Amino acid sequence: MTEHTRNSWTTEEVAGIYNTPVLELIYRAATVHREHHDPSEVQVCTLLSIKTGGCPEDCSYCPQAARYQTDVTVHKLLGVGEVLDKAREARDAGSTRFCMGAAWREVRDNRDFDSVIEMVKGVNAMGMEVCCTLGMLTHGQAQRLKEAGLYAYNHNLDSGKEFYKEIITTRSYDDRLDTLGNVRNAGISICSGGIIGMGENDQDRVSMLVTLANLPKQPESVPINALVPVSGTPLESQPRVPVWDMVRMIATARIIMPGAMVRLSAGRLRMTVEEQALCFMAGANSIFAGDKLLTTPNPGQPADQRMFQTLQLKPKTAHRSVETGA
Ligand code: SF4
Repeated sequence: MTEHTRNSWTTEEVAGIYNTPVLELIYRAATVHREHHDPSEVQVCTLLSIKTGGCPEDCSYCPQAARYQTDVTVHKLLGVGEVLDKAREARDAGSTRFCMGAAWREVRDNRDFDSVIEMVKGVNAMGMEVCCTLGMLTHGQAQRLKEAGLYAYNHNLDSGKEFYKEIITTRSYDDRLDTLGNVRNAGISICSGGIIGMGENDQDRVSMLVTLANLPKQPESVPINALVPVSGTPLESQPRVPVWDMVRMIATARIIMPGAMVRLSAGRLRMTVEEQALCFMAGANSIFAGDKLLTTPNPGQPADQRMFQTLQLKPKTAHRSVETGA
């Protein structure tokens, strides 16, 4: 195991990387990026909310929590046909990964889950990497998803363990880690990252990155989100995250988890192309496409196409496309 893929990072080491003078940090991350990835390729993922709002959890950043008064339009689980139409549209627009999100605390073994299994099978058959984010998952449920062709499961740690209880009280950090363990044991790849700008400090950010990097096997995908404060949520008045904080998080994630896809996720709408370019330079190699990210606004396809042209980036093909021939 090389220095870059080890999972025994200490907090001091990672804090040292995180606090490196920023231009040096970008240079170092860009170097690691080039050793493990083609820097001209960026994965384009589409995220669709298949069940929106009405969630019993109390995540302080989330407009889908039933207890907050937000203007999210609540809807029950979409039909299988509708979801597959959206997946086809996303594929035709260049997405190679399709992620379906449901605002559930946990998966229940009921008809809705049966429908999700059909959605996974359908998207899988289109040759896209299919990903779900459905809340907590048992080992048996993870296995059913795997058998249906699920490629990845998203379950964010959100922040460091110490800060976690400040933003969520309805479940524990260990619950999150248990689900990640169930996903890994079922042979599904892990997508797990977090959000910055919720009031956490640098130590909390470093703590989350250390936990992710030291999982028995590092996540294949690490989304880094900048909080999008939503009116009606407890975090509605949080100030905007400076771009340099995003750059530091992305660069540190890239250096300590070199094989992962590091995803520049929520918060892009408020970033210029130049700011996003800094994030790509720092090792981000994945974005979410479309004009909505679950419920919050996102730049939309025409703006992203222009950005790809300006920066001479190209969308990455799906890992699966060769296997399926799709
Ligand atoms: S982040 Fe997920 S679990 Fe938390 S309130 Fe929102 S939908 Fe529910």
